[in-house]
Amino acid sequence: MSRNIGYATPDKNTPLAPFAFDRREVGPEDVRIDIAYCGVCHSDVHQARDEFGGALATLWPCLPGHEIAGTVAEVGSEVTRYAVGDRVGVGCLVYWGDESQRGVSEEQYQNPPAIFTYNGQDPDTGDVTLGGYSDEIVVNEHFVLRIPDAIPLEQAAPLLCAGVTTWSPLAHWNIGPGSVVAVAGLGGLGHLAVQLAKARGADRVIALTTSPDKADAVRALGADEVLDMTDEDAVEAHASSIDFVLSTIPTPFDMKPYLSLIRHDGALVTVGMLEPIHEEGIDFGFVSMNRITIAGSLIGSIAETQEVLDFAAEHGIAAEVKVIPVQQVNEAFDEMVANDIRFRFVIDNSTLDADRDGAADLPASQ
Ligand code: ZN
Repeated sequence: MSRNIGYATPDKNTPLAPFAFDRREVGPEDVRIDIAYCGVCHSDVHQARDEFGGALATLWPCLPGHEIAGTVAEVGSEVTRYAVGDRVGVGCLVYWGDESQRGVSEEQYQNPPAIFTYNGQDPDTGDVTLGGYSDEIVVNEHFVLRIPDAIPLEQAAPLLCAGVTTWSPLAHWNIGPGSVVAVAGLGGLGHLAVQLAKARGADRVIALTTSPDKADAVRALGADEVLDMTDEDAVEAHASSIDFVLSTIPTPFDMKPYLSLIRHDGALVTVGMLEPIHEEGIDFGFVSMNRITIAGSLIGSIAETQEVLDFAAEHGIAAEVKVIPVQQVNEAFDEMVANDIRFRFVIDNSTLDADRDGAADLPASQ
């Protein structure tokens, strides 16, 4: 077995640090991937700091990362779709919830749920799954995505979570020509959602923000208009004018002004927020009289992940990324929490080599 290296933490109070461990041997259906880049998702911060709770409570040790891009290094004897050297990615899922789910189309909504790339339970060993802040990963080929040549690997990485998380609801609700779409929250997810909605052919894409200083940058991504949600008159002027509000706001917020924008039979869908909002004031008079749908959406299926990669390549859509050495990942976590950043931090996984000598063994799963 070759020893692997990755950045992990044994508990919620300790910064990520280098640890040595062993990926499983490549099985018949497996692909071993040399990881070139891994995006840093807000979920990584929440999980490493055990801020989700409930069904998403953190399993230890925690080695995050589910925006993985690299090249195939080895394939199992029954692998048919990939060959050594292929440009590939791994997103949020690495295995079905159980074997009966082979062939299902929405892996993330099954019961039991599909296995997460990290903070899941490996079906073979029972150990916690370990993510992409590491040099290699071994994954069943069904959960491996093909990265089109047109997309640099570091820009492909954020599409594997942030991209598909916004793509999936846009596809499910058939957003395209004829739709007036608003995107709320203009961070890593929102800046991709604006581009994807525009490229899907929506009649009009409106960026909703409480930080009007982002207006120029958002227009440059293709937004037709920027609406300052702190300007009550402007919000009033847009009342009942929008078909679909996609909220990427990651924490509980007052939905009422956002709902007021939606027209008859429209919907507000939130992504990236996985906690109760304790919303006292949703006016179900307004919601009912306009038959508005309030919904949530969780990441995306494997098929949708491939779709968004291919669509982004075809339409020249790219995530804005800031590539960092893995040694700066703790600072990146702090900056993501402190500042409302628009780009995506992406780890250059080749920088793991500097920590290879002398790394402690990763503690056993608990
Ligand atoms: Zn993510």
